[in-house]
Amino acid sequence: MSLAGKTAVITGSNSGIGLGIAREMAKAGVNVVLNSFSDRAEDHALAAEIASEFGVDAKYIAADMSKADDCRRLIVDAGRCDILVNNAGIQHVAPIEDFPTGKWDAIIAINLTSAFHTTAAALPGMRTHSWGRIVNIASAHGLTASPYKSAYVAAKHGIVGMTKVVALETAQDPITANAVCPGYVLTSMVEAQIPETMKEYGMDRETVIKDVMLARQPSKEFATVEQLGGTVIFLCSDCAAQITGTTISVDGGWTAL
Ligand code: NAD
Repeated sequence: MSLAGKTAVITGSNSGIGLGIAREMAKAGVNVVLNSFSDRAEDHALAAEIASEFGVDAKYIAADMSKADDCRRLIVDAGRCDILVNNAGIQHVAPIEDFPTGKWDAIIAINLTSAFHTTAAALPGMRTHSWGRIVNIASAHGLTASPYKSAYVAAKHGIVGMTKVVALETAQDPITANAVCPGYVLTSMVEAQIPETMKEYGMDRETVIKDVMLARQPSKEFATVEQLGGTVIFLCSDCAAQITGTTISVDGGWTAL
């Protein structure tokens, strides 16, 4: 079965991995709903560009994934949600005793709790239409840990656990729920970590990338947003109909170490 004509809602998709997933989806004929918390002309222009490039319906809906009501409204305003990609995420790096409580709360809300709300709001429609795919963008940090990322690691382990529960609750419906666990992808989230790491280790940018970040990835290469989009499309395909409640790592071997 082709995915053409399905509708995908991708949270946090005005940049990085979410935008990459939206573009790969649109290339496959899927109508896409882009999202972030901002409501700028350029956000709506992104959706218009995707619509004209790939000949699908595309719209941008501003909704703040740190707010329960916004998460649920996003699904209602989308009109249809056959494929839900919970991708919105933020990061903050600090030792646990210095970790700001506000940052902890924001990371748990955006990286974990938002997926609870969007999933709860999307499932009734998926059941009505007898088809659904839920893909949660977790992380290698959903399977392993690094120092100074307490909230992020907790949220990503949490979303892997929630994915398994959703899979069990939908096991006898034509609905699957899985998590994708990327290693490092050179997006704005990773770019933001480079200056601090350069300062901390007294290294230049290239050395931070090679000896700190890619030291975690045996392939010594960043994963790409196109590879992540392709992985999500695979999880939405018919041959993945019996893949549910699990994780797929796209991490160049990080979690094999
Ligand atoms: P990014 O900063 O480019 O994208 C994050 C997206 O989330 C943006 O579109 C941003 O606008 C959106 N967002 C942030 N706060 C939001 C809010 N309150 N409401 C709605 N949207 C919000 O970073 P990215 O690397 O593309 O991250 C996307 C996802 O991939 C995140 O969940 C991240 O944890 C995960 N991830 C990234 C990497 C990596 O190396 N880049 C690795 C593993 C997992």
